[in-house]
Amino acid sequence: MAESPETRGQSLEPRVQSRPTPRSTRLVRVPDLQAFRQTVIELATMGSPVDARDRMIVVPTRGAAALLVRSIEDAVLSASTQALALPDLVTPRELVTRLADRLFHLRAALTPAQREVLLGVACRYAQEQGTAPPFQLRPGLVAEILRLYDELRRRQNSVDDFERRTLSVLEPGAAYDRGAERLVRQTRFLVAAFRDFERRSAESGDDEHMLRTRLVGEASPRPYRHIVLTVTDDAFESYGVGPADWDLLTRIPGLERLDIVVTDTVLAGALHERIHRMLPGIEEIRDETPIERRLPVLVIPPGDDSADAAVAGSGMVHVARDREEEVAGVARRVKHAVRQGSLVSPSDAALIVRQRLPYVYVAREVLRSAGVPCQTFDALPLAAEPYAAALDLVLSCVSVDFARVPAMALLRSPLFSLASARDVSALDRSLAEAGYLGGIDSLERLLAVWRAAEPMRSGVQRAIRAGELLLNVARELASLRSDAAVADHLTVLQAFLLAHESTNIPDESLRARHLRARGAVFATLGSLRDAYAHFDSAPVSGDEVAALVRRWIEGQTFAPQTGDDGVHLVDADSARFGRFEHVHIVGLVENEWPDRVRRSIFYSTAVLRELGWPAESDRLAGARAAFADLLKLPTSRLSVSTFLLEADALVSPSPLIDEVEHAGLDSIEEAIPSHRIFEAEALYCDPLDATPLSTFAREWLDRRRRVAELPVLRFRGFTLPMALRPYSLSALERYQDCPFKFFAADVLRLEEVPEDESTMSPRARGRFIHEVFQRFFETWEGRGGGAITTERLDEARALMSEVAEPLLARLPEADAALERTRLFGSAISTGSVEIVFGHEAAAPLDVRERWLEYRLEGEFALGAPDGRKVALKGVADRIDLLADNRLRVVDYKSGSAPNPSRALQAGIYALCVQERLRERDGRPWPVAEAIYLAFSGKRSQAPVVKAGDAESEKALEAARRRLLTIVDRVANGEFPPQPTDEILCDFCAYAAVCRKDYVHD
Ligand code: SF4
Repeated sequence: MAESPETRGQSLEPRVQSRPTPRSTRLVRVPDLQAFRQTVIELATMGSPVDARDRMIVVPTRGAAALLVRSIEDAVLSASTQALALPDLVTPRELVTRLADRLFHLRAALTPAQREVLLGVACRYAQEQGTAPPFQLRPGLVAEILRLYDELRRRQNSVDDFERRTLSVLEPGAAYDRGAERLVRQTRFLVAAFRDFERRSAESGDDEHMLRTRLVGEASPRPYRHIVLTVTDDAFESYGVGPADWDLLTRIPGLERLDIVVTDTVLAGALHERIHRMLPGIEEIRDETPIERRLPVLVIPPGDDSADAAVAGSGMVHVARDREEEVAGVARRVKHAVRQGSLVSPSDAALIVRQRLPYVYVAREVLRSAGVPCQTFDALPLAAEPYAAALDLVLSCVSVDFARVPAMALLRSPLFSLASARDVSALDRSLAEAGYLGGIDSLERLLAVWRAAEPMRSGVQRAIRAGELLLNVARELASLRSDAAVADHLTVLQAFLLAHESTNIPDESLRARHLRARGAVFATLGSLRDAYAHFDSAPVSGDEVAALVRRWIEGQTFAPQTGDDGVHLVDADSARFGRFEHVHIVGLVENEWPDRVRRSIFYSTAVLRELGWPAESDRLAGARAAFADLLKLPTSRLSVSTFLLEADALVSPSPLIDEVEHAGLDSIEEAIPSHRIFEAEALYCDPLDATPLSTFAREWLDRRRRVAELPVLRFRGFTLPMALRPYSLSALERYQDCPFKFFAADVLRLEEVPEDESTMSPRARGRFIHEVFQRFFETWEGRGGGAITTERLDEARALMSEVAEPLLARLPEADAALERTRLFGSAISTGSVEIVFGHEAAAPLDVRERWLEYRLEGEFALGAPDGRKVALKGVADRIDLLADNRLRVVDYKSGSAPNPSRALQAGIYALCVQERLRERDGRPWPVAEAIYLAFSGKRSQAPVVKAGDAESEKALEAARRRLLTIVDRVANGEFPPQPTDEILCDFCAYAAVCRKDYVHD
């Protein structure tokens, strides 16, 4: 337990002089992991509860500590002990600070953030003093330099030692080897930075290395008297103890007893000699406590399943396609064992992995899907938590200047209270149509245009509401886009998070986890801000701060425990502290068992060896020995598995697979009956078997099956008959493409998710082109009008330039340039102006009047002989009334020309206008022409009724029949998902709500 501040203030330092302590140092050898766990439990609980308060057990990870606590409780409390005092359980990384907690603290300990900031300042200072590094100094590199410094010190190198030893290797070759010369410059820079860093650190507080010095020189008033090491040397295992800590343990005052518990397998070879060298005079004992020990039986795949014997360790290892299938195999074996009675409960089984990721996600999901409960003490990455993702969203939004997609994601995030979902959808669509690419100025301009709109539709009002919120958000965060001190940037970020975070977490089960993640994120931001506020006020860009925050968040883990029963998901270093009947070791692939060593980015292996870095051969020997021990961990059954594919790339099996053969375990072949246990199997295998599904999922499946079997049309896209309302012709054309698409868009009025366009959206572009031609013909008619003939083409082009330029000037520069080319053409393409003018000049007709953007709304008989009328609405682009009382309908398409035999608009507009003119004038107005003029694609003209075509009545009759058929089907409520071409589904905005799959059931 740490001293309280009050206690510290009562006496003067030093209270206790450091004296050598008579000490017992023992190497406790055990035959295997079952004896290892038993011995550690006995050492942890020996003596009185008071003794336990001064005992420390060093375990590899926090997960190992949790498992050991559970094992102690199972072993001791079951023996009818009333009370249990647990010793302190610490990891090697916590060892120094935990020991120092019992010193008289007079100085604050430097936080990791403070140390990184101090080193960053020291690096800049060294550079300014003329010791430039041979690389560009980036914040991420400073973290690596700090890691190198700590590793040097943990290997008992002072900065002077580092300089002397490194230069003695590098300097001889520097005169003729540019690589060596560069490393010499790097070393000089690092030495200068380290010296300045040590000076600044000494002025500001204690770090791990200073604490080691203090721990040896000062005695604690209440020292740890007994330390049990369950880890060995860091040369042999990744969570081992380094040279500086071995030295500390041999010299720390007050320690009376040091026990190192190790298995014979791990101790064999170089480790044995190394321990004797580091701890001369260590007493070696063998723990002979009798325990009931059983070797496990190795469960191997049946002979015909072990086809890939070379991969599968001569058929002794299960081989899966990928990790998911591998864990699925474990789920089957666990279920089978429980069913057979060889496993009482899944909680007696462990799934052992070398690396937590991605198994903490894969295993939990796969086991859950099989209905196998799972528990884990392993930490998850903080960066994967929703709150960290929300912070990332804020940073992304700033870095792309509040562009549409991240801005909408931020406004929609349930972790912020910003805007209503409907307002955000309206804003999303409006921004997409306007081609908004980010920027506070652009947003302000757009809002001004929308506010001036007459009349203001409700969608625009919504867009304005959400747009104003986005503008406020952008202004609050705007300072992050310019240079400022890191602490100032972080203050702005924290204030934003606090001001806008949502407190409404609807799922109670997620609340605690959310609050922990939020606390961890704020703690990270707070420690960085305080560190920079104290030590570094240099201005940096917002992007640099974003990179800093992301790096720190990514380096943290979170949520140490999930679940309290079921299969234990444990890493290989922690597993030895648990008692398991069945063990499944998974992921036996290269670079995982043993894991890939982290290479230094600064020095070669030869230089690092000179500085005391461990040999690769020792690391591999340690990994092999630990794996061999792990094979004998379970008390009943063992299975080992590997897989072949990772992200669709082949992976090689682990070299440790050989150990399975050498373990000398009895084996049994086990064929797992092909019961369905996964939710997915229940759904995709024939016949359907709902057994693996949860009650909720089973009810859903039953309902769906009943629905699929019902001869009721309403489950196949049919509704009750509908009262018709006026539909636009483009909506009815949509019905032709796919009735369900019409239902989604025009009956349910679901909004499409807008695409992000780097230029104007197709819809905005269409509107622009229509406006240009409308303005042109209005002006043309205002100046006398008439047909555009070959002789008047230049006059028309000049007028078009006059009309179009002010409209183009309203567009962003890049869009204006593009649209100008599209209008007036280029050396390689014909402009839309030439298409429109060329069409008219090719067969000039005497135009008396032009109706532009002519709105048609109401009931139309469309010339049907039975007098039936249909309600329609639409806007015809251009109706030309000709001198001989005929009419011409022109429809502009900014995209490709439609198929005239399927398109409705030109033909139906012609019939509607005919009808209105007949009502007005009391005489017929034959259709001279109805045509689409298309500004993209191969065909620029698609006539429905050709000029001078005697068959024009037939074409109009066909359009009328198709329209009436569609209207009748809509009235009958017929909306089956039946695309005219299946390729439409690939681009359909309503695929997510489409019932196509149900119908195909
Ligand atoms: S996904 Fe295909 S079937 Fe479904 S609505 Fe869209 S076009 Fe029709």
